[in-house]
Amino acid sequence: MDMEKFIKNMPKVELHAHLNGSLSTKTLLELATLEYGETNNEFQTICRNFQQNQEFSLDECFKKFPIAHALTTTKDGLRRALLSVIRDFSQDNVVYLELRTTPKSTTKMSKVEYLETVLETIRLADSLYPDICVKLLPSIDRSKGIEMAKETMSIVTEAMKTQSDLIKGIDLSGNPAISSFDEYGKILSDAKNNNLKLALHCAEIDNSDETYKMLQFGMDRCGHGTFITSQNLNIAKEKQIPIECCLTSNLKCGTVKSYVEHHFKNLYQSNHPVVLCTDDPGVFDTTLSDEFIIAQKTFNLSTKDLELLSLKAVDVSFADSVEKEFIKQKISKYFND
Ligand SMILES: [Zn+2]
Repeated sequence: MDMEKFIKNMPKVELHAHLNGSLSTKTLLELATLEYGETNNEFQTICRNFQQNQEFSLDECFKKFPIAHALTTTKDGLRRALLSVIRDFSQDNVVYLELRTTPKSTTKMSKVEYLETVLETIRLADSLYPDICVKLLPSIDRSKGIEMAKETMSIVTEAMKTQSDLIKGIDLSGNPAISSFDEYGKILSDAKNNNLKLALHCAEIDNSDETYKMLQFGMDRCGHGTFITSQNLNIAKEKQIPIECCLTSNLKCGTVKSYVEHHFKNLYQSNHPVVLCTDDPGVFDTTLSDEFIIAQKTFNLSTKDLELLSLKAVDVSFADSVEKEFIKQKISKYFND
């Protein structure tokens, strides 16, 4: 079997994907047509343009976000979008997915209803797509301020009373340039005390003082780690903090110059726990298979490397021990049959 096909068929684990950014152009077009009918609206025009052309600037890619937001303002729209995303990951042979989303209030639903709809839909997907196990990491958007973060945490804490089998951690994301991490320490400590793991976007931009503080604070996984300095990397190494590497996202956002220069290489070669993730596969027009194919070609990974990376992803996931064992068996069977 050729390598690309081998990777596509490989059972994969996705630990860093945002719901709205995971909506593919094809899915956005389907959802826009369902929502607004066949009449040619602005969203459909933008989606068709994405389908007909290959190369886009980052600004153009980011036009997908407002479309995704607009199509997920109702419970039905959110349910359809989430089911499409789970279907797409399942079709890419992702067997375990940790999905992130910020509970939002819209004119049609409250934040509580948003979170409830997401959780109900994940349970529904369990019967529709039985080959994929989906968990939720509600996001705190640090660009929205501390009051919003407190509100999100209180909604999540309430939901944890009955849904702790699905809610596994908290994601801290949003524009790091316009807020300070210091404000969020207390809330994240509360989350930790409530049995939630922490997956924090960290060193996404060049701010070594903040990265130092965040690593000292501690986290269960670090999102991106792009601008981590050698001093800060030593802290990550001491604490064995796994780093989620999103090759295409970083390249398209211009935070790394080329795949060859991506920090994945040094991390992997130095045996630091590292996972390959998509971040926003819809926006960046990628899949987890594509990310593995790029990594395999760029860093000349062997099938043994692919197996080790996949098993490591299970280890650093927030699944429980029974789930981890089940997924590991699936992966080992694929590589050793
Ligand atoms: Zn992200």
